[in-house]
Amino acid sequence: MGTVVKDEHIFRSHHPPVPVPDLTLPDFVLHNAELYCDRVAFVEAVTGKSFTYGEVVRDTRRFSKALRSLGLRKGHVVIVLLPNIAEYAIIALGVMASGGVFSGANPALHASEIRKLVEAADAKLVVTNESNYEKVKDLGLPIIVLGEELIKGTVHWDELLEAGARASIDSTGEEVNQDDLCALPFSSGTTGISKGVMLTHKNLVANLCSTLCTVPPEAIGKVTTLGLIPFFHIYGIAGICCATLRNKGKVVVMNRFELRTFLNALITQEVMFAPIVPPIILALVKNPIVDEFDLQKLKLEAIMTAAAPLAPEILSAFEKKFPGIQVQEAYGLTEHSCITLTHGHGITKKNSVGMILPNLELKFIDPDNGRSLPRNTPGELCVRSQCIMKGYYKNDEETSRAIDEEGWLHTGDIGYIDDDGDVFIVDRIKELIKYKGFQVAPAELEAILLTHSSIDDAAIVPLPDEEAGEIPAACVVLNPGAIETEEDIIEYVASNVAGYKKVRVVRFVDAIPKSPSGKILRRLLREELLEHINGA
Ligand code: AMP
Repeated sequence: MGTVVKDEHIFRSHHPPVPVPDLTLPDFVLHNAELYCDRVAFVEAVTGKSFTYGEVVRDTRRFSKALRSLGLRKGHVVIVLLPNIAEYAIIALGVMASGGVFSGANPALHASEIRKLVEAADAKLVVTNESNYEKVKDLGLPIIVLGEELIKGTVHWDELLEAGARASIDSTGEEVNQDDLCALPFSSGTTGISKGVMLTHKNLVANLCSTLCTVPPEAIGKVTTLGLIPFFHIYGIAGICCATLRNKGKVVVMNRFELRTFLNALITQEVMFAPIVPPIILALVKNPIVDEFDLQKLKLEAIMTAAAPLAPEILSAFEKKFPGIQVQEAYGLTEHSCITLTHGHGITKKNSVGMILPNLELKFIDPDNGRSLPRNTPGELCVRSQCIMKGYYKNDEETSRAIDEEGWLHTGDIGYIDDDGDVFIVDRIKELIKYKGFQVAPAELEAILLTHSSIDDAAIVPLPDEEAGEIPAACVVLNPGAIETEEDIIEYVASNVAGYKKVRVVRFVDAIPKSPSGKILRRLLREELLEHINGA
């Protein structure tokens, strides 16, 4: 009597459970690839460079063997600092097949930021190209370089593959199992700085099984997908590259967004499915360049948008301008191996991020007391499945904050499920800022601000922005007598971080409001800042 049933309200998928085969990620996605040997798997939109399924299988094997002969062992982390290129998935899968752990890094990062990742991941090797070599040359690690030139002191990609072709099958005897780590993407989670997210082969295979179960058999081998989302992000490597390989489709690889090149690629490469992010949809709706193109020539059947919320008016404008092209919203997070909710092939309600995938359990909890909430009641979204990360690398404290004893991953997002099983995301309570879909961790920028000799205290909060979704804004307490301007502070942060993390608004304040335990009261600060901006 009187005991509270804590998990009264747990929601499951309408779909029956799907089996998860006991395979490593490379074996799972390259299964049956020999039947599609001559079919193109990856083609670069601008250069036309391409790889067939036969070549993908061959080079993945060669690279994996070569890595082992270079001394890479099970669990060793390999940092891949590359833009989207046709070889990208071969590199990631080759690392995984060798027992290594693939960790993609954003080429926009500064050398100092890459050093932090390398140290945090205990990385043993770097794969990069000529244009990013300078940023990694002083790390003291072996470096594999793709490109025309041979750089002294590095291993050249082509030569390594040739060595891999000659190497014996395997010299280490280490077997790779599904429970081994295969990827270490970085995410700041609900608080603090970026942390390595430990994903196993099983996590990623399970996510693909749940996501792909609605793909009809007649679509296998037929779909051309746009590969513009960065492959260093789990959404790019798993959601685009691995999902396409599994279904034997083709990825049209693009390494940056430029509207004319983008539209040209969609038309000339006959792209059918384009996973993108809200800022690109905004450009498609608003930019007059789109009118230079004959949109009748598009073969596009659907776009998928994820990584950040899509404003309802932008969705409506897109549907008006591109009638007949389905808009599939999806929701996911790195800690859940990519996709968590999606519409699959049946769109239901506008601005819902989708339905629960098979094999997943969801609940929405009251953030104040942890109790699960009924339908139509917003609360923190928690998920339980085989896709949940093993934990944050070398950070048990943050791991236990993110995953509770019952195995629920607390996402830091607020949402609800309606009577039909459609899920809506309505708010975010974690510290994370998303600039054009890219993660910006307030704690990282605050730490940089505090290294400035004229700054006493600082806090970073998100401000809404039509184009980027959110932009980082800084509230700064200057030392008495300091003469710095807002521009000086913006410049100071910009010289230390990648462009997408730049502080774009600065406000000088007398004090940063904090809770009795010292936590920054971000909501309050954000409201004050918005009031100040709107009143100005
Ligand atoms: P990441 O780990 O970089 O993929 O970031 C995951 C976070 O992005 C989620 O926890 C959400 O805060 C946000 N996010 C992802 N997809 C959506 C979406 N469709 N709508 C709103 N927020 C989203």
